Amino acid sequence: MKEKIYTIPVNDAYRSDAACPLCKLRADVERGTLDFYLGASLMEPDTRVATNKLGFCRDHLNKMYGREINRLGIGLMLHTHMKQLRDDFRDPIRKAAPDKRTLLKGRDGDFGKRISELASALEKRSADCIVCDKIRFTMERYSDVLLWMYFEDEEFREAFRAKKGHCVEHVAFLLRGAVNHLNQNKCSEFAGELLSMHREAFDKLIDDVEWFTLKFDYRNKDKPWGDSKDAIPRAMNMLTGEESRGNDT
Ligand SMILES: [Zn+2]
Ligand SMILES: [Zn+2]
Repeated sequence: MKEKIYTIPVNDAYRSDAACPLCKLRADVERGTLDFYLGASLMEPDTRVATNKLGFCRDHLNKMYGREINRLGIGLMLHTHMKQLRDDFRDPIRKAAPDKRTLLKGRDGDFGKRISELASALEKRSADCIVCDKIRFTMERYSDVLLWMYFEDEEFREAFRAKKGHCVEHVAFLLRGAVNHLNQNKCSEFAGELLSMHREAFDKLIDDVEWFTLKFDYRNKDKPWGDSKDAIPRAMNMLTGEESRGNDT
C-alpha cells in the first residue's frame, strides 16, 4: 500500500475539473511550499540553513514577493542567503579573477578556464531553488503512486480514463515515470492508453481552435461557438501547462 499523503491528492486531482490533473497537483505543492517558506518556519534554523544554501529561482521569488505578505521574512531570508553566497564564492572569485599582479606576469594558460568554471558555478547557484526541489521531489512521489494506483485500484483507473487529457509536459512526465517505475508489459499498457487519450484530446483541441478562427468569418457569425469559446486558453494550457500564480486568488 502506498502512503496516503500521496494517494489522496492524486485521487482528488483526477476527480477535480482541472484540465491537467498534474498541473493542479504541481500548483498545489507549489502553493503549499510557498506558504511554508513565507510562514513561521522561515525563522527555524533548519529551514534557514536550507534556504541560505539553495535560495529561490526567479519565478518563485516573484511569486513570493507578489503575494505582498511577510516581506520582512523575505528580506531576512535573502539577507542570510546572500551572505552565504558571498562567503561561498569568496575563494573561487579570488582564485579566478584577474588582479594586477597576475596580469603583469604575462600569459596564464588556465585563466580562461578558471573564469569559465566560475561562470558555471555562478550559473548553477543562481538556478538553484528550494521550492523547485520540493516540487520535483513531490511530483516524483506522485508519479510513483499514480502508476501504482493505475494498476491496483480499478476506481482510480476509471477516473484516469475519464480525464480528457494531460498537458504535453505532463504526458512526457508520465511516460518517463512509466519507464522508471513499471516493467515493460505494464509500461506499454499504460503508455498506450495515455498516448491514445492524448491523441484524442489533442485532435479535439485542434478542431476547437480551428472553429475559433472560423468564427471570425462573418458567414459563421451566427453559428454556435460549440466548445471553441475558450479554445485558445485551453490550447495554451495543453501546450505549455497551466501556470500557477502562487496564490489562492
Ligand atoms: Zn500539466
Ligand atoms: Zn523555483
